[in-house]
Amino acid sequence: MRTSWKRSRYSAVWGSTTHTSSLDDAHRLRTLRIPSSAHFKLHDLEFDDIEMSDEETVRACLRMFLDLDFVERFHIDYGVLCRWLLSVKKNYRNVAYHNWRHAFNVAQMMFAILTLECLALIIGCLCHDLDHRGTNNSFQIKASSPLAQLYSTSTMEHHHFDQCLMILSSPGNQILANLSSEDYEKVVKVLEDAILSTDLAVYFSSERSVSVTGASGPVSAMSASWSSCGERRGLLRAMLMTACDLAAITKPWPVERRVAALVAGEFFRQGDLERQNLNLTPIDIMNRDKEDQLPAMQVKFIDTICVCGAITRATAVVGPREEQSSALDRAE
Ligand SMILES: [Zn+2]
Repeated sequence: MRTSWKRSRYSAVWGSTTHTSSLDDAHRLRTLRIPSSAHFKLHDLEFDDIEMSDEETVRACLRMFLDLDFVERFHIDYGVLCRWLLSVKKNYRNVAYHNWRHAFNVAQMMFAILTLECLALIIGCLCHDLDHRGTNNSFQIKASSPLAQLYSTSTMEHHHFDQCLMILSSPGNQILANLSSEDYEKVVKVLEDAILSTDLAVYFSSERSVSVTGASGPVSAMSASWSSCGERRGLLRAMLMTACDLAAITKPWPVERRVAALVAGEFFRQGDLERQNLNLTPIDIMNRDKEDQLPAMQVKFIDTICVCGAITRATAVVGPREEQSSALDRAE
């Protein structure tokens, strides 16, 4: 077996196996026509999935794999790909924000930004929040959850990556089965780095790496000070993962507002859990009693993390946006 993940340790902790999708569902999906990327507007930076059914989101994912030529290039069995996508979707929980729709939107943003980027990043986007419980790393630590006992840093991100490998190696879901060992190892390494980089604590250290160069723009900053091309590409991939993860704030205001409400709902639910189960006073952004301060806290988040950070740096790499003003409009 090529994977190095620790199935026995995992099973011992949860006493369960991954829930893979049914063969019947995969067979059904396999027979469906897959509309073009233009039909789904998959190249659109202002993409909105609100009108799409769950089935359409999966068909749109198949379109991304087909248009990126992944199926041909990496000899991915189409039926296995159908099943894998359904399994990934199934392993997202019905939480307000960190659900399948979030993963799908992150993958679409990566697809829209990178015309010829690699298989691992799209898989990474689709899997980057697998089995999210609607509570963050700090909650896992405070609650001494089994996950926190396994991983003391980037707790949830390690779990998302482990879940990702578990699905990839589950019978009938092995979309990477026909890659050479060398290519497989490369994909898994990029996947691991990409998923772990979605921890904002890791993002801040990447952001520092860019800032310490002293260069003004993202491209010049990235070209100047790193010793190897591989390192620069890794840093760029990490920044892009965060940019796609937080990209909802670059969407038109109605979309952005809707997503912000979902995030706030999930945060408040964590705050409630902290109060009820851990007897703690939640931080302001998770404190339902401070709901009236939410707009100001959101603007601060956008100014400090999104506008000054990943979004502007990464989107500057792929070309300036006509307007990145939706967040700023709101602040005015
Ligand atoms: Zn996410």
